[in-house]
Amino acid sequence: MTASDRRSNAPWSKRTLSAQALGRIDPITKGVVPPIHVATTYIRDPDNQYSSGFVYGRPDNETVREAEAVIAMWEDAEAAMVFSSGMAAATSVVMALSPGDHIVAPTVMYWALRNWLLTEATRWGIAVDLVDTADLAAVKAALRPGRTKLVWLETPSNPLWSLADIAAIAELAHGVGARLAVDSTVATPVFTRPLELGADIVMHAATKALNGHSDVVAGVLACKLQDDFWSKIAAVRKNLGAVLGPFEAFLLIRGLRTLDLRVRTASATAATLAERFSTHAGVAQVLYPGLKSHPGHDIAAKQMQGGFGHMLSIRVKGGEAASIATAAAVTLWKRATSLGGVESLIEHRASIEGPGTPCPPDLLRLSAGIEDPDDLFADLDQALRAAHS
Ligand SMILES: *Cc1c(COP(=O)(O)O)cnc(C)c1O
Repeated sequence: MTASDRRSNAPWSKRTLSAQALGRIDPITKGVVPPIHVATTYIRDPDNQYSSGFVYGRPDNETVREAEAVIAMWEDAEAAMVFSSGMAAATSVVMALSPGDHIVAPTVMYWALRNWLLTEATRWGIAVDLVDTADLAAVKAALRPGRTKLVWLETPSNPLWSLADIAAIAELAHGVGARLAVDSTVATPVFTRPLELGADIVMHAATKALNGHSDVVAGVLACKLQDDFWSKIAAVRKNLGAVLGPFEAFLLIRGLRTLDLRVRTASATAATLAERFSTHAGVAQVLYPGLKSHPGHDIAAKQMQGGFGHMLSIRVKGGEAASIATAAAVTLWKRATSLGGVESLIEHRASIEGPGTPCPPDLLRLSAGIEDPDDLFADLDQALRAAHS
């Protein structure tokens, strides 16, 4: 999407633009849903040029571009790229760095990316320091002027929903010449727009709330500036073949049409559940950024607008066994990993992260969907009672 596209969208809200996927139609039939472009290769013109701008299916694709335009609109980005997964998007940012570069990332973050940074990224000569990114002094102390090229944040972060102050850390990162990238999967662009707060790149596992129906694996990056670094990331995507397929891009566009509705509903439900379980006899602690008791609440109130997201965790009284027994006793909640779908999920997080996880053993991670919040409360309430009986 070009700057002039964005200006022409100016009178309409993001919710409106997203509902209509930027108003694009099929130019041939005038269908209100554009077709899925499946071609892997394109005709070269008689004058030996590729006037359409399309050459081959690995660099990109028209349906992919349409998904990217909707996401760029949501994030007020100069450009967006969609990838074959959230991990492909995140690792492509790191692979655009050079050997010897240094990254600062959170101690507690999405487990698979944390492992990849510590094993694979370091194997390619990238130095990685993990710090508590809720602690500005710790972030500052970890920065190595001239060497730190990337600060990675995840906020709110798995599975404690800790907050990092994007604006403050952007200033720290820029002060030493580093870029700031933010995994904003949990906040979604409905509630937080990291580029507005000073980040250079925002990343989403579009597998989660952006698609929202637990039927697509996809990742997204969006940038403040289409600079040389962005071109390097595009080269990584092209060379590794990490672009999203057109069918998945189509489904992602369809999911994005209802993003605002789904995310606001799920977030209101998460807030209701957080309040109600805070006083539950079977629950030791509820972790939700919207609760005043949450350590990140002040930052959340500052940088999340309109809601605190659809994710919360509960720490079950009685420890790990009671926690696993609670998850075993639900009937409506789905016992599954992942998040951000229309169906509510419950997960004993330490079991999936495995040995070495910093996740508390009594923690259940909850992803609120769009079901009736009273039903969700009733089911988890009976499961907690069953586990404690
Ligand atoms: C799921 C997730 C990822 C990874 O996304 P995939 O699509 O599974 O590769 C990264 N960050 C967060 C916060 C996630 O929830």
